[in-house]
Amino acid sequence: MSGTFKALVANKTDAGYSSEIRDITLDDLSAGDVVVDVTYSTLNYKDGLAVTGKGKVCESFPMVCGIDFAGTVASSESADFKPGDKVVLNGYGLSQSHSGGYAQKARVRADMLVKLPDGIDMKQAMAIGTAGYTAMLCVLALEKNDVTPKDGAILVTGAAGGVGSVAVAILSKLGYTVVASTGRAETHDYLRALGASEMIDRNTLSEAGKPFQKPRWAGVVDTVGSTTLANALAQTNYGGAVAACGLAGGADLPTTVLPFILRGVTLAGVDSVMAPMAARQEAWTRMGTDLPKDKLDSMADEVPLAKVLELAPQILAGQVRGRVIVDVNA
Ligand code: NDP
Repeated sequence: MSGTFKALVANKTDAGYSSEIRDITLDDLSAGDVVVDVTYSTLNYKDGLAVTGKGKVCESFPMVCGIDFAGTVASSESADFKPGDKVVLNGYGLSQSHSGGYAQKARVRADMLVKLPDGIDMKQAMAIGTAGYTAMLCVLALEKNDVTPKDGAILVTGAAGGVGSVAVAILSKLGYTVVASTGRAETHDYLRALGASEMIDRNTLSEAGKPFQKPRWAGVVDTVGSTTLANALAQTNYGGAVAACGLAGGADLPTTVLPFILRGVTLAGVDSVMAPMAARQEAWTRMGTDLPKDKLDSMADEVPLAKVLELAPQILAGQVRGRVIVDVNA
């Protein structure tokens, strides 16, 4: 039917939680002054939670899922954007309080959009996606806390996941020595190719450890949380910094104040969803210069929209490697 387009919509009724691909119209989208023809979205851990209903992501129903997208402006009532502009959007409540990127069209506010930076095309932007942009926010957090390559090794946890993979590639390109923590031995060659110099089994970090351990890391990018983050803090060098962005292993944090008060360790929280525009622009600009584009190809698989229904439980089970680009028009 003319005026309709495809979307992946989550719904919650008395019959339970469900997600399906269906035809919708612009009237089904949240309000905004810019309409975008979406080219690609991606699959992130949070998308897995929203599509399966295993996490409380969507705040109202029915909700178009997808926490990010790249596309071309179709129409705009804002002076900041014109038809034909290539744009990207991460977070800002997409799939939570605002209809998201798993649709052939999105309607958003102009102040949510970032113009695609030079040196990145739409496919690369979504190979990066929210996971990659969060990885860059973590790297920026380490830099802001004066962690430099000469200070020692950086630990990346959940390394074979989306955030972890991009963090490994960026840190290695910037000259850091990267140690990758993963639970999947079959990803070692992949992680080495991204630039990790050493791999450690994630079980060595996920068991409860002493609150104060032998210092090993100048900095940490942690996507796992819980005991893994507690051990990472306990193993961080004097004056080091830990960028915490994830909870793949749990939302708790069973730690003590010892790493902070005896080693001056900084725990830097990283949020991508409501990150201010200046931080977004800095992260995307740095992505244009500091992410090795050749590594993106080995990190990213492309799938049609319907495949997201199948992959959503898999990403929650830690079975998805690297990044998944979603072609919403396939
Ligand atoms: P992925 O599922 O792609 O990666 C997560 C990785 O964590 C897995 O690949 C696995 O890595 C590891 N992992 C999974 N389960 C466990 C477990 N029980 N114990 C230890 N390690 C585990 O997800 P993303 O990379 O997209 O996201 C990573 C985390 O970051 C998520 O918690 C997500 O919610 C969060 N996030 C936060 C953002 C923010 O704004 N703060 C933005 C984006 C993501 P391996 O196989 O290598 O062990």
